[in-house]
Amino acid sequence: MDLEKKAIERIKLASEMSMQYYGKPLVCTYSGGKDSDVMLELFKRSGAQFEAVNSHTTVDAPQTVYHIRKKFKELEEKGIKCTIHKPKLTMWQLIEKKKMPPCRMQRYCCEYLKENTTPNRFVATGVRWDESQKRSKRGIMEVPGAKIKDRITLMNDNDDKRLLIERCEIKGSMISNPIIDWRHHDIWDFIRSEKIEYNSLYDDGYKRVGCIGCPMAGKSRYKEFRDFPTYKRAYIRAFDKMLIAINEAGKKTRWKSGNDVFLWWMEDENIEGQMNIEDYLNQ
Ligand code: SF4
Repeated sequence: MDLEKKAIERIKLASEMSMQYYGKPLVCTYSGGKDSDVMLELFKRSGAQFEAVNSHTTVDAPQTVYHIRKKFKELEEKGIKCTIHKPKLTMWQLIEKKKMPPCRMQRYCCEYLKENTTPNRFVATGVRWDESQKRSKRGIMEVPGAKIKDRITLMNDNDDKRLLIERCEIKGSMISNPIIDWRHHDIWDFIRSEKIEYNSLYDDGYKRVGCIGCPMAGKSRYKEFRDFPTYKRAYIRAFDKMLIAINEAGKKTRWKSGNDVFLWWMEDENIEGQMNIEDYLNQ
């Protein structure tokens, strides 16, 4: 079976299970990136009942925000329910509240801004095995446990655990990853052959589209802040406020200004004489 057919079968199965166990349509998470656009197209082709949900991060590039709005408007005109989940706190407010910058080791922003926005629902994501080593452990369908070891994961379409997942007493959310076995070039081949409209940032040299300044994005953050200097200023302002909050809480820090924090944060590594995040966490 080709990739498209397999993905559509997975969507149909997840959609049926969503209606059966939750009494609600399957949720297609949508970030405005290329994988999300492939997912939306496959959902439309499947004929399955679904809703689309975007978690507004408050640090997406304007192009991404416009692209999401455009795609959701098109879906709504077809009668598909779309929701943009707006968080109570912005990234800038979150930094001040947490009293630390978001880091690889401390991705509190993902937990607050992106995860848990669709509790107790069956959710489909655009996670793919070829994106990272960590994601290679994800499955076609998952019942998340409180601990990773308790997670039930279906690694292929004929996995013996399928009955277990289908019969399990559902508590909390379930996850389907219909395009998990698509590689990078499969995504772009599909987008090009099916003429799917995608986020214009890819034509501006971006390989990934997501939060501006994400600590997971490595050196590409330099380009992001060159292209979006307003976001750089906003991070520095947020770090200034964070330092005030740290001082008011009576905590010590060697950072003197928001700009110091920004420079440290951009290095994403420990420089001699500079504070490292473990020092900070252990204070
Ligand atoms: S900045 Fe990165 S870690 Fe934070 S919410 Fe965005 S994607 Fe997640």
